[in-house]
Amino acid sequence: MDELVAIGRARKLVEGILSPPVDVQALIAAHGMVFKESDRLGPDEAGNTVTKGGTTYIVVNRNDDPFRRRFTALHELAHNLLELPSKHTSGVPSDELERYAGRPPEEKICDVFAAECLVPAHLIKPLIANASFSVDLLIDLTKKFQASRQCIASSFVRNSKDLVAYVYAEEGATQRVIPSAALRATGIFVQGGLLPSSSAAFNAMQAGIGFDSQELDASDWSSSDVAIHYACYEEALFVPAWKQTHSLLTFEAVASSIRNVEAGDDSDGLLAELTGHLPWPKR
Ligand SMILES: [Zn+2]
Repeated sequence: MDELVAIGRARKLVEGILSPPVDVQALIAAHGMVFKESDRLGPDEAGNTVTKGGTTYIVVNRNDDPFRRRFTALHELAHNLLELPSKHTSGVPSDELERYAGRPPEEKICDVFAAECLVPAHLIKPLIANASFSVDLLIDLTKKFQASRQCIASSFVRNSKDLVAYVYAEEGATQRVIPSAALRATGIFVQGGLLPSSSAAFNAMQAGIGFDSQELDASDWSSSDVAIHYACYEEALFVPAWKQTHSLLTFEAVASSIRNVEAGDDSDGLLAELTGHLPWPKR
């Protein structure tokens, strides 16, 4: 099973839901399972599934953040509905769900399914149409959907027609980059590794402030050749736990450089001039 199939199954499951937040307990009950919270799970265990006396219980760690418990429950539901055996024999390890490197494919598919159920595409699309990718909107949508910032930001990008990308980092090291389909089509590849020192995320982390924004050149975030023809507006949220940063990037073609490209003028002098100082188009 691949991610697209999982997304299709998740969409089918939530298509009748009219408004957020999704009722996770009702979804579980609709499949004959029982949702339970427990404080007996270890601090490293977010959830598991147990069957007792013919009843299947989805158990989540009561000590986890409430949004996180909702995600964990749907991740467990995915294991059951998609018949993907759990690769975490002793339960969902709580520090893995939101840390992406080295996750087994089955686990990633269950995460994708959970995210799609928690933030259904048909409910988020009308809320992001014509909206800019901003921290204000991100925070508003986390409350509406009762889902984590990672979950909302990645859903925004997946459902956006704009040139946007979401970058999640911990302690200044990029953990995940999610570009929109439109951004991928431009050929701008947002690099991983360490946060750029000019970025809003880096600045917010260094200064220990919750929010920063920067008007940048796209080439600050991308080493792709085409990046010199784009500007990048970044809003960043800094969360002290694990020094997490959430970067919301919006790219925009720079009009003057497009003209130069169209004119076929790619002399060294002009290119140097273009990379020097790109004007940010007035919004
Ligand atoms: Zn799992």
